[in-house]
Amino acid sequence: MLSCRDLRKSYVTERGAVTAVDGIDLDVEAGRFAAIIGRSGSGKSSLMAMIGGLSRPSGGTVTVDGTDLWSLGDDGLAGFRNGRIGFVFQFASLLPTLRLVDNVALPAMLGGTAVDAAIYGKAATLLARLGLGGHLDAYPSEVSAGEQRRAAIARALINDPALLLADEPTSDLDEQTEIEIMDELLAVNREQGTTLLLVTHNLALAEQAEQIVHIAGGRIVA
Ligand code: ADP
Ligand code: MG
Repeated sequence: MLSCRDLRKSYVTERGAVTAVDGIDLDVEAGRFAAIIGRSGSGKSSLMAMIGGLSRPSGGTVTVDGTDLWSLGDDGLAGFRNGRIGFVFQFASLLPTLRLVDNVALPAMLGGTAVDAAIYGKAATLLARLGLGGHLDAYPSEVSAGEQRRAAIARALINDPALLLADEPTSDLDEQTEIEIMDELLAVNREQGTTLLLVTHNLALAEQAEQIVHIAGGRIVA
């Protein structure tokens, strides 16, 4: 369901070009849980951003569910990303002026501004499943970091993505909260068959994956 071919990313900086991703070939089958591990600076986030349609590759291709992501136009890419790919980021990424339920509903409302009862119902159901049923009307600053991350997962799931990308989603949280959040991500993978690609520093966690991808210097290493 996910296929990267000779994927590359270089950044132009004042000190010259930096190669972050240096020719990656990667295949992940539908419904799998794949973990990406590697040291800080090895290119993991750059790779995830290209797979997620957030950062244009310098070379190579990303194919998700048969669609060559970066051959789409801007509108097509935005639509595909919003509808098919869920992204959970490393740090809090909720909009602070919106309630949790609004944050979760938002990706389903793009293109329309009317408050849609069905969308809000689904947002409430997702938040409840993630243990936040009592916090629908709370603002992000009113809940804990772990609860914010749960809400970010709910937001990533509102459009039933085929591919869920999580880039060190728990690295800033305490150990117990990390376990709880990871259990939620694994449950989505197992119960809904959502393909899960997770970047983690946590080896114990990576060992639970069906596929482990080691990255060093922008390449896959054995
Ligand atoms: P990781 O997520 O594994 O820590 P990154 O993909 O964030 O790795 O970074 C890989 C390399 O690319 C690093 O050397 C980093 O400094 C560089 N890099 C990442 N983003 C940028 C950017 N926006 N501009 C310039 N260099 C960047
Ligand atoms: Mg990173």
